[in-house]
Amino acid sequence: MSKENISTSTVKELQDTQIRTYEQLLEGNKLFVERELEQDPEYFKKLASGQRPDVLWIGCSDSRVPANQVTNTKPGEVFVHRNIANVCVHSDMNMLSVLDYAVNVLKVKHVIVAGHYGCGGVEAAMSNRQFGLIDNWLRHIKDVYRLHSHELDLITDDKARAKRLVELNVIEQVFNLCKTTIIQNAWEERIDLQIHGWVVDISTGRVKDMHVSCSTSGNLGKVFDLAKNQVPQAH
Ligand SMILES: [Zn+2]
Repeated sequence: MSKENISTSTVKELQDTQIRTYEQLLEGNKLFVERELEQDPEYFKKLASGQRPDVLWIGCSDSRVPANQVTNTKPGEVFVHRNIANVCVHSDMNMLSVLDYAVNVLKVKHVIVAGHYGCGGVEAAMSNRQFGLIDNWLRHIKDVYRLHSHELDLITDDKARAKRLVELNVIEQVFNLCKTTIIQNAWEERIDLQIHGWVVDISTGRVKDMHVSCSTSGNLGKVFDLAKNQVPQAH
């Protein structure tokens, strides 16, 4: 809403709503603390002593797909990174830092890329409209579309095509993670690290496992095999 031509009463109404929303968050925090302490008086003491999550969740920023609620886990159980449309690109220092810390320091056993149907980022990437700065980010999803255009272009229903692109995007981001030296070096050192791809159906709350779980770089194609101990070939 533009600040010009706005009546004093509307300003007051908007400010009241804004304050209420903010106060509800602080009130919610009080309830959260009370509820947890009721169940376990030592809860926060234990939480403060450190974290040992087995799972890294890389999901969409969408407010409807929170990692803990979707997986019925508690604080301390899932390390989380979220961005628009759960994209994993090897030039994203934020994602790489989270991945490196989770894999090499926390020693997580599972990395889950979690997309969701009805993803605004994926739907925007399918359109031909300009959305501004975010177009640079959505380009990565357009690349996924291009890679699978032979399949996607055959789906005439827009909603069905968007759903399939959500699935394919998750699968490609799983492969993108597997292509990183962080994951490949970890696989050389240990056998207990798996990468998975999920899609959350917001309309049912259920997870669809895309069955692309990887625990070796074997199915990536030779060009992506970045094993540290390989001897460079002579030319
Ligand atoms: Zn999304």
